Amino acid sequence: MVTTRDITAQGLRPPSTISARGHASTGEQEQGPPPGSPPRPRIPFTATGRAAGGRLVLAAAAVYAVLWMFLRDQTASLQGQFGELVGAEAVLSMTVSAVLAVGSPRVDVAFGGAGRRQRWHRGTALIGLALVIAHLPIVVDNYEDPVGVILAVVSLLLFGILTGLAVLTPGGWFGRRRGPLGWIARLRYDRWKAIHRLTAGALLAGMGHGLLDSSALRHQPVLAAIYLAICLAGTAALGYQLILRRSLLRGSEHRVLDVRQVAADVRVITMRPMGEPWAPAPGQYVDVEFAGIPHGAHPFTVVRSDSDGTLQIAVKANGNDTMAMHDRIGTGARAWVQEPRGDFHYQRVDERQIWIAAGIGITPFLSWIRSLSEAHQGVVDLWYSVRGLTEAPFLDEVTAAARAFPWLHLHLVVTQRDGRLTAQRVLTEGMAGRDASAFLCGPPAMIRTFARDLRALGLIGSVHHEAFSPR
Ligand SMILES: Cc1cc2nc3c(=O)[nH]c(=O)nc-3n(C[C@H](O)[C@H](O)[C@H](O)COP(=O)(O)OP(=O)(O)OC[C@H]3O[C@@H](n4cnc5c(N)ncnc54)[C@H](O)[C@@H]3O)c2cc1C
Repeated sequence: MVTTRDITAQGLRPPSTISARGHASTGEQEQGPPPGSPPRPRIPFTATGRAAGGRLVLAAAAVYAVLWMFLRDQTASLQGQFGELVGAEAVLSMTVSAVLAVGSPRVDVAFGGAGRRQRWHRGTALIGLALVIAHLPIVVDNYEDPVGVILAVVSLLLFGILTGLAVLTPGGWFGRRRGPLGWIARLRYDRWKAIHRLTAGALLAGMGHGLLDSSALRHQPVLAAIYLAICLAGTAALGYQLILRRSLLRGSEHRVLDVRQVAADVRVITMRPMGEPWAPAPGQYVDVEFAGIPHGAHPFTVVRSDSDGTLQIAVKANGNDTMAMHDRIGTGARAWVQEPRGDFHYQRVDERQIWIAAGIGITPFLSWIRSLSEAHQGVVDLWYSVRGLTEAPFLDEVTAAARAFPWLHLHLVVTQRDGRLTAQRVLTEGMAGRDASAFLCGPPAMIRTFARDLRALGLIGSVHHEAFSPR
């Protein structure tokens, strides 16, 4: 491992100049800091996890349960009515999951950020599946309508398969194994997404089964009205996600101004807006779809955003589309850039911080550094882990920033030379201390390991992360 001082001693590039706005400019960058005031973020950040969305969902589930048992069909058995309630709660949970899949900035704020909203999306889907399975043996005598039974079977099978698919991720245990489960875990994202859309069918089938087979809904208009309202909300969320989202998304056409290689497999792409300019906050990302690149939009952190709307992203050749971007995207290429998203932001917590970046995971930290100045108060350990020195994008710029900013302590770890970075090293060799907050960015497996180990080794502060994978 080397620190900033070591990098200088090893005769790596000379320090870059640091502008008044705290933007470090290096030989790799084609532009100086833009004139005018910094762009203001459009999306409000949530301060902590104290957002009300989760509590609201739990309260709604509890009130629904009480209402259901209070208004239940008194002529039917208590066990059967309880089983129906469990099924109805499953539909509610799946509906919440469908609504959370939409992921609008407002919903993100209500749930304490995009990451937490995503966790609630997955959690409510898993709870929904568990409730579907749990209600089967309880209501086994209630099934009367043959169509309702078919819908129940379709819903259960689809939910089971699709939840399994969602749980198997490329960064997870199966993603690193051979065999059919490993193959499924490594499914290309666009294919996985196409299959994942079938959950809409599972939810609609489950809703239909409830309508046809529940005696409580047949006998109690109030329960039927509430159930229909839940079904309506779920159907609207699915309809938006599957049909309307693409046409309603706020996007803006951009033209590529410049493409530059900044590491062995990383290119920086600078784009100028032809339509509405975006003003991302430091650390936010944009979904970008380049003309001629086959599988739609991909998320990239904005590493630089100028007051005239010019945006810069750094793209690592990671898979099919990003390799195609390296091969085919040049000056003048057309790009469709969606509204900035994400809430990975340093301003949320206290000022002793540990930033851990793996390879291209340096991008949000770079954009934070570029937005900060020498005067920033606090202590930040930036642990930058790269395989080799040729695979370290923006190393000279973060090195220069660490020399110019007293609050920033850079620790470079070249794994081919120094071995893997560990949480133990981060806590014992860093300056920030165990009460610091940690911010992690990189592949999901790296994030899981550090989040677990930092906690196990006694980190007291909060842990935030941006996984460079949507699954
Ligand atoms: C919030 C966020 C910010 C990111 N910022 C950057 C960045 O600044 N620089 C950078 O190089 N990469 C970034 N990524 C990762 C980048 O989006 C993927 O590497 C890219 O989409 C891979 O596409 P592919 O077709 O080349 O790879 P594939 O071979 O299809 O997949 C490689 C990996 O990328 C993931 N992936 C594929 N398609 C998508 C997609 N549409 N959306 C999200 N993940 C996908 C897959 O799940 C897989 O883990 C970011 C990802 C996220 C979620």
